[in-house]
Amino acid sequence: LPRVLSGIQPTADSFHVGNYLGALRQWVDLQATHQAFYSIVDLHAITVEQDPADLRRRIRVAAAQLLALGIDPQVSTLFVQSQVPAHTQLAWVLECLTGFGEAGRMTQFKDKSARGGADRSSVGLFTYPILQAADILAYAADAVPVGEDQRQHLELTRNLAQRFNARYGPTLTVPEPYILKATAKIYDLTDPGVKMSKSSPGGSLDLLADVKASVKRIKSAVTDNEREVRYDEDAKPGVSNLLRLLSVFTGASIPELERRYEGRGYGDLKGDLAEAFAAFVTPLQASVAGYLADPAELDAVLRAGGERARATADATVAAVYERVGFLV
Ligand code: ATP
Ligand code: MG
Repeated sequence: LPRVLSGIQPTADSFHVGNYLGALRQWVDLQATHQAFYSIVDLHAITVEQDPADLRRRIRVAAAQLLALGIDPQVSTLFVQSQVPAHTQLAWVLECLTGFGEAGRMTQFKDKSARGGADRSSVGLFTYPILQAADILAYAADAVPVGEDQRQHLELTRNLAQRFNARYGPTLTVPEPYILKATAKIYDLTDPGVKMSKSSPGGSLDLLADVKASVKRIKSAVTDNEREVRYDEDAKPGVSNLLRLLSVFTGASIPELERRYEGRGYGDLKGDLAEAFAAFVTPLQASVAGYLADPAELDAVLRAGGERARATADATVAAVYERVGFLV
């Protein structure tokens, strides 16, 4: 079977619909056709400051959400990144193949470091994409299901794999991005000009948030001064975002929805989205609570996944170290 690898950061108490539509839905689906490795990437999370108790809780909440969404730990390898040393071992080798200017062109670093000032950003935030390349290459992933914001990092990963192979001989698998156009970028509800993010929670629609609060957020989502429900990403980014969400949660196509709301206002669109979203998250929240009720079992599932992940990733590191000229 072809392989997939993807990761998600435990940087908040809930995933949001952008994470779900951009990535996690594909994670679940790809289990049927691929050998899947899915990681809670806690090493990435500490590239910005995290409170230790929050981080530990969020790792478990992340695992509970992944299980509730349908990741089957018997079928896929679900693990915590920090429990697999091979990621950092491989990252060092890749860092030594990455140009300083090349790393400096990564737009996520520019965006995230702009918030606190580049000088106050950690070196870890700067080298993040290289660790991400190691995450992927350690498992010889053929495909990487992610949102649009990760496309540039994927391109770096491909370049590093090709560079390694050219210099040391064919060793690493060059992965393809797996990005579904219709849901590749979900926008913030209060600012439809920026992507929804865990790290800017004011306008995110969170899977585990209180349902009433989410309904309120949907109803006060920023739209525009017209009244026409029409899909137009440039002229009507807010309405288009709501249409994308409603389309996924109801299974209706966007043209179908445009017809349904002809002559009706944004209030109806928002009301229906609120209802569909509530219907999706209510059983999900109950399922997450069930997994969280037994943290020892959660930890055991993750440890078992970590063991399987290590077996695969250690083999890649051994091959890489041998190629580089280290004594093995
Ligand atoms: P953070 O703000 O901490 O970076 P995040 O919301 O960007 O959090 P990540 O853990 O960095 O989430 O990314 C997990 C996955 O979700 C990645 O595949 C990423 O591409 C995808 N993703 C994140 N935000 C969106 C979004 N707004 N639309 C579509 N996909 C998204
Ligand atoms: Mg992110």
